Amino acid sequence: MTFIVAIDGAAGTGKGTIAKGISKEFNFSYFDTGIIYRGLALKTISKYGKDFIKKDAISEANIFDINSVNESEIRNPLIDKYSSIIASIPEVRNIVVNIQRNFGEKSKGHEGIVVDGRDIGTVIFPNANLKLFISASLEERAKRRFSDFLDKNEKISYNEVIKQLQKRDQRDKERSVAPLVAAKDAHLIDTTGINIEETLKIVSSLVIKEFNDYCNI
Ligand code: C5P
Repeated sequence: MTFIVAIDGAAGTGKGTIAKGISKEFNFSYFDTGIIYRGLALKTISKYGKDFIKKDAISEANIFDINSVNESEIRNPLIDKYSSIIASIPEVRNIVVNIQRNFGEKSKGHEGIVVDGRDIGTVIFPNANLKLFISASLEERAKRRFSDFLDKNEKISYNEVIKQLQKRDQRDKERSVAPLVAAKDAHLIDTTGINIEETLKIVSSLVIKEFNDYCNI
């Protein structure tokens, strides 16, 4: 059995940065589950265009190979949008659930694994040892995303980033299967106005406490 840290939250809350920081600090493996939906969105659009139908996304999910995803191609506003559209298809999620649970296998050699996404504490690993639900105000999240896009020379305005985040939040929260919601037993962490070092301190002390309990069982 591996110690599992499940980190969920909306886009731009800082959950990915927290997850990476924690995995580094504790030498746990790290799995960003959003990569799957992003990779699938890219493959589906490339093959069928933006007017793809449900069936197209499902058939891509059936042949999806996580190793074929190229990080540099999936972090842009277009893929932000289509990954959440594809993630709202229940049949796609059904297939993707297995890819995520199987990842545990790859964490061999590590005492723990940090997994981030939208439904990790609720659906993928409901028995995770530690669950965190990360939030931040819309304005702060938009500022972070906008600055990321500026660094990458993406041509998008701050207002457009706000609009896209609102639409994506709505899709992720209102979909019929595995909507973005905090697990009942998750620790809620609001990162508005808190820098990453502070946030990591808070999360790190939670990990230490839970991991000690886990080792003493
Ligand atoms: O986390 P990231 O922004 O990379 O995720 C992209 C999209 O993938 C999200 O907006 C969401 O719709 C979907 N996703 C999901 N469940 C996960 C991870 C990501 O529905 N566990």
